[in-house]
Amino acid sequence: MRTMGLAGLDELVAALGRAGYEVYGPRARDGAIVLAPIAGVADLPHGVGDTQDAAFYRLRDRGDAKVFGYSTAVQGLKPVLFPAHELLWKARKTPIGFDVEDADATPPKPRAFLGARDCDLRALAVHDTVLASREFADKAYGQRREGVFVVAVTCSDPCGTCFCVSQGGSPKPQEGYDLALTELLDGDGHRFLVEVGSERGAEILAEVTTTDAPPTDTAAADAVVAEATASMGRTLDTSDLHDVMYAAADSPHWDEVAARCLACTNCTLVCPTCFCTSVEDTTDLTKSMTERHRVWDSCFGSRFSYIHGGVVRESGKSRYRQWITHKLAGYQDQFGLSGCVGCGRCITWCPAAIDITAEAAALRAGLTTGATDALETAGETR
Ligand code: SF4
Ligand code: SF4
Repeated sequence: MRTMGLAGLDELVAALGRAGYEVYGPRARDGAIVLAPIAGVADLPHGVGDTQDAAFYRLRDRGDAKVFGYSTAVQGLKPVLFPAHELLWKARKTPIGFDVEDADATPPKPRAFLGARDCDLRALAVHDTVLASREFADKAYGQRREGVFVVAVTCSDPCGTCFCVSQGGSPKPQEGYDLALTELLDGDGHRFLVEVGSERGAEILAEVTTTDAPPTDTAAADAVVAEATASMGRTLDTSDLHDVMYAAADSPHWDEVAARCLACTNCTLVCPTCFCTSVEDTTDLTKSMTERHRVWDSCFGSRFSYIHGGVVRESGKSRYRQWITHKLAGYQDQFGLSGCVGCGRCITWCPAAIDITAEAAALRAGLTTGATDALETAGETR
């Protein structure tokens, strides 16, 4: 364990730049914390906190000098590693047909992420499984993902919509990082406890001015984690959740949610694990060049489930049921993990204040006797 000050953090960003990384970190921009390229500590959100609740997000002045004193950035690492819009190929008309050119296959500059939370890292692990570890891997994602350097940071100020602890996470980064920091600000000064998670992390840290961490700093960091763990804004009862979701397939509660849902797709856009896409073709005005683009799509869109002559999920009720059931049950069947890391973003950014934790609780509470029997049978069968 090492300790460094704010100047050391600046040296760390510089060392990552010298090593060839494009460094992304939290920035306060347009009234929100966003992940964007940074040149140094000066770009971080000094003294900025956030207040989040269902359909509510505001930045606030913390009244101190913390640079990681907010809960989560508006989006995780997804928009950088799995962009919302991507050219797949171009076709150019020729006298006898057309030539197809693949999108530029030059590997992108490696990225370093400063400030990733544990929920961001677990969401990254979901994308690694879904996009890069199956038979038909996403080559472009794999290229961007390769060589990513992560400086994770303990979440000291979870917001009102956070429930990562219910989902097996923690305010303290667990794995998948090269370096992990815990920001400390007390009578002993403003500093960062540093833990090394990889060889690359140790190599980069060797270029930074650090000192041995005193036991008081490790104790202070443990206290930050304990306090954050105890102040999660929400909880989700995950016992038998997979079976609860399937048993609730015919619940009347779906109609109640559908009456509020605007099908705006916000929840899927901010969700760090959502990965659905569609393709769009564009042709230039001379009709000599066509491009195919991959774009993020959402299961809340009316055309998302269109297959061979019809839309499978026409109602808002069926679309919300698809989304939450896939997150909390279907992912386990498909990928062996939960599709929700408890980051709370879908709750904050839903304009109708639809809350995945509250809806799951209502579905559980509304199970009929018959459904409860089925649930017990499913449990016995497993
Ligand atoms: S479903 Fe909601 S809480 Fe869960 S990972 Fe997605 S955005 Fe976060
Ligand atoms: S649940 Fe909320 S965020 Fe998601 S589509 Fe419906 S209204 Fe939009």
